[in-house]
Amino acid sequence: MGISQGLLPSGQPDADVVPVAAPAAEHHAVPGFEAVARLASGALDVSLVALLLADGSAFWYTPPGQPDPLPLDGALLAACREAARHGQPEMVADARADARFLPGGTGTVPSAIGFFACEPVFGLGGRLLGALCVADRRPRPALHAGAHAALRDAASLASTGATLRSYLNRTDPATGLPHRAAFFADLRTHLPGDHDTAWIVVIEAAPVARFNALVRAMGHAYADALMRAMAERTQAWMTPDMQLYQVGTSRVAVLPAGLHDALPPARLDELVAMLRTPIDCLGVPLSLQPGVGLLKVEANELRGGDPLRRVMSASHVAQDSGRGWAVYDHRQDERQRQEFFLVTELAAALSERAELELYYQPRVDLASGRCVALEALARWRHPTLGAISPSVFVPLAEQAGLMRTLTDWVIDHGLAQLAAWLRDGLDLRLSLNVSSIDLDAMLETRLAAAARRHGVPLSRLELEFTESVAIHHDELTRFVLDALREAGVGIAIDDFGIGYSNLDALRRIPATSLKIDQSLVRALDTRAQDAAIVRSMAALGHDLGFRVVMEGVETACVMAAVRDMYCDEVQGFHIAHPLPGAAVTGWLRGHAARGT
Ligand code: C2E
Ligand code: MG
Ligand code: MG
Repeated sequence: MGISQGLLPSGQPDADVVPVAAPAAEHHAVPGFEAVARLASGALDVSLVALLLADGSAFWYTPPGQPDPLPLDGALLAACREAARHGQPEMVADARADARFLPGGTGTVPSAIGFFACEPVFGLGGRLLGALCVADRRPRPALHAGAHAALRDAASLASTGATLRSYLNRTDPATGLPHRAAFFADLRTHLPGDHDTAWIVVIEAAPVARFNALVRAMGHAYADALMRAMAERTQAWMTPDMQLYQVGTSRVAVLPAGLHDALPPARLDELVAMLRTPIDCLGVPLSLQPGVGLLKVEANELRGGDPLRRVMSASHVAQDSGRGWAVYDHRQDERQRQEFFLVTELAAALSERAELELYYQPRVDLASGRCVALEALARWRHPTLGAISPSVFVPLAEQAGLMRTLTDWVIDHGLAQLAAWLRDGLDLRLSLNVSSIDLDAMLETRLAAAARRHGVPLSRLELEFTESVAIHHDELTRFVLDALREAGVGIAIDDFGIGYSNLDALRRIPATSLKIDQSLVRALDTRAQDAAIVRSMAALGHDLGFRVVMEGVETACVMAAVRDMYCDEVQGFHIAHPLPGAAVTGWLRGHAARGT
């Protein structure tokens, strides 16, 4: 029949032959067990050899070719388990005279066992690992000395395999550190009472995207070596009562035994400083961007909760913080979960498109009072969460790789609407907001293709980039912006005045409009300093040849104030809130009638 193995259900078996659960994936076989069992069954002439380990797993062997192989029945299993627990050698020459193997004993039906013997299996340092048991149908006289020695030898050989298995079951092969299952097993041992608490520390080597990029560039062997180097640094920081675990590809955890108080900030600063020092890994120097997260875990949470997930939210926050470490914060965690949920929902909204809409906000020429352009602004109406602001979902789309899909949707819808207005004889331009992620060599091609599809001249379009994109530009940005300008597309620098303006870069950028940020414009009639700043910016923009647009004009007073500030266009709630596409024609008619 050969070898079988399994994690047997704990407790008293109530069937004759015990059902065996499939071995958990992370549990290994006992290396060499089959060879040991074959030797033992040959030397002792027995029809079943079983190895029972302290974690409840059982491995058994029946020599092949037997017409009626001996089952590992309930009574035999109970005897083997008992042997694995008490750690004493035992021999039952006639099991028919032993209550455990009789009906009403530990099994539910009479056991098929006539003979039973066992030897304890010890691991390193004399730790009891389990028992090696042999059984046969026939009772027999007590084992003679040679047979007894063979059983002891087999048990000692089995102990090598069982030790190796217990090592493999706890150890990450790449770093040699105990792994996640071992971390949870040890954490449970540290928290025997329901309300016991312990601090856990989790260290991420680098943000996931960066770590993945590193694996792609340098390979897995380099990443493993890097994790070993990180583990060494952490171990150099640890005190002897702490244990280190590999709990993820780019993540280790420290379990400080008996640590009921948080680690002092100075110790954590020290850890971060050690981890941030550049590592020379396989001859390639590299700096980690570590995030150290801390969480106080309560024993209750180990039933069903996921403390590692929670502490990872803290280490994630820590990666972007100057300090490099952070204690778990429930609100931050909720925010991250909400963001994740929103990204999933956004991806669905982008594929179905029914929840997204474009609104249009008029831009009015100050001198003539005429509406010369409309800015397209994306709106997301979630069925249960309601309206979600683009200042929330645009950054999420950027992080989640959804930006190109969103921009394609905005371009397509905006241009379809513009084409309809142009067909109705309206003389308008459309400005579209574009993120830094869109700014690649394909942008001009994407826009030109959409313009062709909708029959819209490119000169009717303007793209708005935020100040930081426009200013911190490189060769590629310059190339893309030049190509767009040559095709006749206008370029606006959006939200100007709130970033770090580099006036020299401003001079070199091929932009056509400068949109001064609403936060500066909104209250310039009451804040003299804002007025002074906006006035100088507008003068500068004007002198550099840009069309100066003031955003956030909310009142008639501000509108009046910007009239003598080199302002060409105004946009804001005083003129109009962003409008659904269908409401624009009506608004334009009313606006023309009002004559402002
Ligand atoms: P933005 O491009 O600067 O757009 C102007 C924002 O100011 C809009 O907010 C508009 O509703 C708001 N606003 C207009 N007039 C006033 C005013 O008088 N007072 C005040 N307090 N606010 C005013 P919204 O629609 O929430 O958009 C926020 C930002 O989200 C936009 O700022 C833009 O950066 C981004 N965004 C919106 N739609 C898109 C899009 O389709 N693609 C990209 N990449 N970004 C977009
Ligand atoms: Mg804009
Ligand atoms: Mg703006």
